[in-house]
Amino acid sequence: LLRQTAELAIAFRENLAERRVGVGPEVTPASLRETLDVPLPDARTAPDQVVAELVRAADPGIVASAGPRYFGFVVGGGLPAALAADWLTSTWDQNAGLYVLSPAASIVEDVAGRWLVDLLGLPAGASVGFTSGATTANLTAVAAARHALLREVGWNVEEDGLQDAPPLHVVVGEHVHASMLLALRMAGFGRGRLHRVPADDEGRMEAGALVSILRSLEGPVFVAAQAGEVNSGAFDPLETIAAAVRARPGTWLHIDGAFGLWAAASPALGHLLAGAGEADSWATDAHKWLNVPYDSGLVFVRDPAAHLAAMSISAAYLVPAPGTERDPFEYVPEMSRRARGFPIYAALRSLGRSGLAELVERSCALARRMAEALAAGPGVAILNDVVLDQVLVRFADDDAVTRAVIAAVQEEGTSWLGGTTWRGRAAMRISIVGWSTTEADVDRSAAAILGRLKAVALSGPGAPASA
Ligand SMILES: *Cc1c(COP(=O)(O)O)cnc(C)c1O
Repeated sequence: LLRQTAELAIAFRENLAERRVGVGPEVTPASLRETLDVPLPDARTAPDQVVAELVRAADPGIVASAGPRYFGFVVGGGLPAALAADWLTSTWDQNAGLYVLSPAASIVEDVAGRWLVDLLGLPAGASVGFTSGATTANLTAVAAARHALLREVGWNVEEDGLQDAPPLHVVVGEHVHASMLLALRMAGFGRGRLHRVPADDEGRMEAGALVSILRSLEGPVFVAAQAGEVNSGAFDPLETIAAAVRARPGTWLHIDGAFGLWAAASPALGHLLAGAGEADSWATDAHKWLNVPYDSGLVFVRDPAAHLAAMSISAAYLVPAPGTERDPFEYVPEMSRRARGFPIYAALRSLGRSGLAELVERSCALARRMAEALAAGPGVAILNDVVLDQVLVRFADDDAVTRAVIAAVQEEGTSWLGGTTWRGRAAMRISIVGWSTTEADVDRSAAAILGRLKAVALSGPGAPASA
């Protein structure tokens, strides 16, 4: 069964680059339900039949997001070594919560974690948690900050909770990522209570405004800055922000760098992250630019004691790790966990320091290439400064035309990308972080986009996308 399944997986991978990227227009919830939504059988089904039928029924609804021409959201693919290690991770089926449940998983996380601290330019000694994604990484960082900031004013939040606690102010940028707001919400900090710092044209926090907000506040403050705005890829002015935070006692700086933090691995792009190493905590995703399979995020905290105080638990039946080894569950909000360290370790070893830098730089070069190719088209405007992997495109300076081109590109299937609203105007949003994307993929996709623009211009934005 497993050999047969490996063959199916290999066939999928071999065809991935040429598969249509989004699902076809004929694929609907109803068409998928026709084959997948069967009554729960009463009797057993042979495993090989289960797998064969799952593959057949799921296939039309599988998106080639791990392939080279998927530019939607911010989505990486699986590097070969990472995918192979991920297969083994499922096969070994380790519970990476405790050292005693998987000594190998625990040591591999520790080693990969130290490699990452070094690669990302973070302070040696920062603690690391392997999470399901950046949302959970942000949540973990907020919990560590909440512990440390309230402890400084004499409040034990793990013991006494947030009700009746001294006020803790939270400052975010106007362009804060929705997941940061979710993390804050889960940690007890509601949307309506946040201090929002105005942003500039690229979506970066206005540092001057942040400084005045910090001056106006009394008591502990948590500041969430961003490395890599989810639309434009822009970086908050981290150096200035870090200096302002350092100058104000009782202030914690967190950086959400779900994809942007990886720029630190490139000597050419590292300047974007000047000052980032001064923060107190950082969140990033391995399933984005590091190109490991889902799901995989990382949280780093400068003060391991705060990290542990927020996350660790104890129970009589748990077995502590020997000596100075770590129990991975003490750094994340989960107990039983997938051994996410293996694919990360494999990705880092297969790329090496220079390979990771090259992957990040190549993605950015491809984003610039895409922007240039599209900008040559009639009535095409690139809305952002392409500093990283993100390109924002607007067609005919018109919302309806822009949305029609996006829909037509999605339907045509050469590549897949989504839309957004950028400073009040509709825009196409292109993100290039996949390890397998080539110049040819970019050129082919740009030609397909401009082809759809032409078709939309001829038929009018109101016409069906297939016209
Ligand atoms: C993707 C992203 C997140 C959320 O990450 P998940 O892995 O989806 O939880 C948070 N912040 C930014 C800037 C992102 O791009």
